[in-house]
Amino acid sequence: MALFSVAVVAAAAVTAAAQPSASIRYLVEFRGGTDIAVTISLPEPVGRPTQFVMPRAIPMGYGSHPYDRFVVGLTARDRDGRPIDLIDLEGPRWTIRSGPDRPLGTITYRVNLERMERMILSAGDASRVRPDFIGLLGYAIFGFVEGLQDHPIDLEVRVPPGWPIVTTLMPTVEATGATRARAANFYALADAQIMGGPGLAQRRVASGVPLLVASYSEGPLDLAALVSLADTALRQAAAWFGSTPFPHFTVSLEALRPVSPDHQYQFSMEHLESATFRYQAGQVDVSPAGRTRLHYNLLHHLAHAWIPKRCAPAGYYPFVWDYSAPIEMIWFSEGWAQYAAADMLALGTPDPAATRRRLTARRFEEAGADTLPPIGGLSTAALSAISAHQYSDDFRLAQTTFARGGLMADAIDRRIRERTGGRKNFRDVVHALLAWCATATTPVTVETLVTAARGATGVEVGDLIEQWLVPRGRSAPGRPRP
Ligand SMILES: [Zn+2]
Repeated sequence: MALFSVAVVAAAAVTAAAQPSASIRYLVEFRGGTDIAVTISLPEPVGRPTQFVMPRAIPMGYGSHPYDRFVVGLTARDRDGRPIDLIDLEGPRWTIRSGPDRPLGTITYRVNLERMERMILSAGDASRVRPDFIGLLGYAIFGFVEGLQDHPIDLEVRVPPGWPIVTTLMPTVEATGATRARAANFYALADAQIMGGPGLAQRRVASGVPLLVASYSEGPLDLAALVSLADTALRQAAAWFGSTPFPHFTVSLEALRPVSPDHQYQFSMEHLESATFRYQAGQVDVSPAGRTRLHYNLLHHLAHAWIPKRCAPAGYYPFVWDYSAPIEMIWFSEGWAQYAAADMLALGTPDPAATRRRLTARRFEEAGADTLPPIGGLSTAALSAISAHQYSDDFRLAQTTFARGGLMADAIDRRIRERTGGRKNFRDVVHALLAWCATATTPVTVETLVTAARGATGVEVGDLIEQWLVPRGRSAPGRPRP
């Protein structure tokens, strides 16, 4: 829940009266150097004070980054081009002193990408620019006018003439110099990525769900092997989930020379219709030994396009952009989705049951058994709430949270297989859950999971879920107050 100032409430009231179908126009321009320029043009001028917001939290990023600090030269203007006063607030917001005599028409700013990449140590969370490449994450460069988040958006991107340019909103379009796309709302725009430049390699596979593999590598990369693996993973995920809720999918991969020894290059990120993978140059391993790991990583992030992107517990929607909101069911979003990925991978092997067992042991059992304080002794909901803003800062928290969910999914799968004589399994539960999510207006709860399992398989799993939610391991001993 977010606290809104009086000015924001006023802006929301104005929005309610505005036409909800009118598109906001976002223009991104890159002409070389370290900055991009962004212009936001409103369809209807806002005649009251309002706020401009840059994200600090990333959907499913379980952490925060101060993207507002890389904004340079923020300017608000009325429709005649006259500047409107701005007040820089605490947090990633500015009050815009628009009014009936000076209604807000456009917002312009630049984003310093070089500074962003230098200051954000996790490579997957920063946008970047090179002499031959530009890679932009929507949430790192786009802000919104409070109250207008649900308006559709027309995006235009302009880059130097001759530069290939693509956005994950419209990856089937092969454009140079400029491209356009449409986003359903600010969330979809922020969730998308833009990539361009002569250094960008694009490979499209059109035989199934249209797939784009867009990569930029500062070292050797076996692109053909990567494309083949991504195509296989996409087909497996679509088959496993029994649906394709996206019209196309993009795998965006950057293999980079480290900016500094402190920068990290191992986190990947899921999106509505894409996934971004960041590696250190030369470390995308498609050898027989490394192939399984990369395959699992692809499946894992593909699975997220269903869970939780389209089937989420409380805390994911409506998304809070100012800070990482607490989420108590990351064990479901990560644990269940990862178990799904393990099952998909296992199904492609000669002995699926043995492979599933091996993957479960390797991925979940060790981490799920972390029984020492201060991580042991916590309930899984409490662990999840902490992980919601420190997932990548302390990976023990992440591992323990998703491992408990993964082991829970494994226990559910094994019980269902056993009690139905192998006729039903975990996948049937997920299918029932997705069918529920397709029309539900409320978040997934434990009760939703129990009901989905019962309805799809006739098997009761509430006790197994409960078993993996209660505090596990040893609590820290009580001590007298210092
Ligand atoms: Zn994940």
